Amino acid sequence: MTQRILVIEDEPSIAETTTYALNTDGFETVWASTGQHAIDILQEQSFDLAVLDVGLPDINGFEVFRQINHLLPVIFLTARSGEIDRIVGLELGADDYIAKPFSPRELCARIRTVLRRVQKQHAQSQETPPLSHPRKQNNFFIDEERKCIQYLGVMLELSRTEYRLLKVLCERPGRVFTREELMNQAWEHPDVSLERTVDAHIKLIRAKLRIVNAETDPILTHRGLGYSLKE
Ligand code: CA
Repeated sequence: MTQRILVIEDEPSIAETTTYALNTDGFETVWASTGQHAIDILQEQSFDLAVLDVGLPDINGFEVFRQINHLLPVIFLTARSGEIDRIVGLELGADDYIAKPFSPRELCARIRTVLRRVQKQHAQSQETPPLSHPRKQNNFFIDEERKCIQYLGVMLELSRTEYRLLKVLCERPGRVFTREELMNQAWEHPDVSLERTVDAHIKLIRAKLRIVNAETDPILTHRGLGYSLKE
């Protein structure tokens, strides 16, 4: 199947050279000349990778990256060869970057490398499936990329610990977790916290869920055992 690349670049000459080279190399391409255009396109179509210019006329490339990063691998194009740009790009979690001026052939090679890496990672994650990472669970919607959880369509304002705690419960509805298990999975330094802290955080999460819907409590307390999410 032909791999699709979204080229996000405002300079027509660079966009043209790039898409021409990619098409010649067997990729299918779509050109977006602004950040907003790219974001709109990505809401309707799927791509295997995006090539993203840092200097866009409407939205800063880093901001565009933040909005699209969870959807597909991204290679930055940067006109400023300064180290700062490069470091910023990589710290954001970009898959690669290439400084302008660049050879289209070099870009094609980089794209192939990233795509191979992503495919390999995908294959590995298929081999050892995680316990379960459902995006949607009961009335909860977990957005792992943004580290946030929606309950009945309402975004919950959770602390980091509350997020992890609720995520653990959401991933295995019906499964009873002991306080120790919850602590080990949701706390960064479980040994320095007391198990009673779990109770305190569950209480806080329940209060936040009640604000969304006071009628029902989706978290069950199991006396002497721990907690579970209602199935
Ligand atoms: Ca530009």
